[in-house]
Amino acid sequence: MDDALEVEDLVMHFGPVRAVDGITLRIREGSVVALVGESGSGKSTVGRCVVRLLEPTGGTVRLGGADITHLNRRRLRPHRRNVSIVFQDPAGSLDPRLSVGDIVGEPLRLQQLRKGVQAKVAEALRRVGLRPEVAQRAPHELSGGQRQRVSIARALISEPRLLVADEPTSALDVSVQAAVLNLLADLQRDLGFACLFITHDLSAVEYLADEVAVMYLGQLVEQGPRGRIFGHPAHPYTQALLSAAPVPDPVEQRTRRPVLLGDDLPSAIDPPPGCRFHTRCPVAVDTCRTVVPEPRTIGEGGHQVACHLVNDDGTGPDVRTTQGA
Ligand code: SF4
Ligand code: MG
Repeated sequence: MDDALEVEDLVMHFGPVRAVDGITLRIREGSVVALVGESGSGKSTVGRCVVRLLEPTGGTVRLGGADITHLNRRRLRPHRRNVSIVFQDPAGSLDPRLSVGDIVGEPLRLQQLRKGVQAKVAEALRRVGLRPEVAQRAPHELSGGQRQRVSIARALISEPRLLVADEPTSALDVSVQAAVLNLLADLQRDLGFACLFITHDLSAVEYLADEVAVMYLGQLVEQGPRGRIFGHPAHPYTQALLSAAPVPDPVEQRTRRPVLLGDDLPSAIDPPPGCRFHTRCPVAVDTCRTVVPEPRTIGEGGHQVACHLVNDDGTGPDVRTTQGA
């Protein structure tokens, strides 16, 4: 069977800004891949290319085997039902002039489906934990959490094979984040769609994702099965990210020291030569400043890393222990 999503050497430049600079990644049918990295690393741009809100500058995007990279609006239409996106900010992504029912049913109308729309809307609302009466309300009458549930209902009403969820909880009150995350996890399990889960919340990643892809300044530095990435992170940047994430165990939390990366993310207009991470990497050597590290497979399950200092068996420096003191 074709993968739900295949992205090959994806490039998205905005004038001089190299937002995405050669990303290769695939998502198997029904599995969840988390795309993590700091804000400004290009994660959202990847998501927007995948749902073709943006036309990539280079590379290919295949949905269920179909190349959609450069399709025009008309030829894209039959593929629209196969992929949906949920944005970070539900307030900004829901048209305030429409009722909730019209918003949720819109994807069906765009596919020229008219029969049974109302019943499907009611069912979609029920799935996300909202009562059918909500269909008559306006988005501004709902809470942030309810609005995000509406976005999710709209995204899933056409039963897509792939859902792109771009920081779906980070604009919500902390008190409702867990509920919305649980909802997404339940829906994914019940409906079986594949998911590109864009986030910087590593505890959510551990909970939801089958695989993890770590992005730095427009490129992937490491990807692989969740257990490998959390258990044996090989890239210094992944190690630093994980060192800063909260851990559930308070004793472990007290003994952990986050690796400080110092400077901000460099500009995507003029990324550092060699390894893009070398300006902040605690273990960089001379080679890192001039030679680009190519991604290499270092373990089972397609664990890949792009770093000169990681050995073929995945061993190498761990910035969580080499730094400090
Ligand atoms: Fe650090 Fe060098 Fe590895 Fe880049 S290639 S992550 S600079 S050690
Ligand atoms: Mg973003």
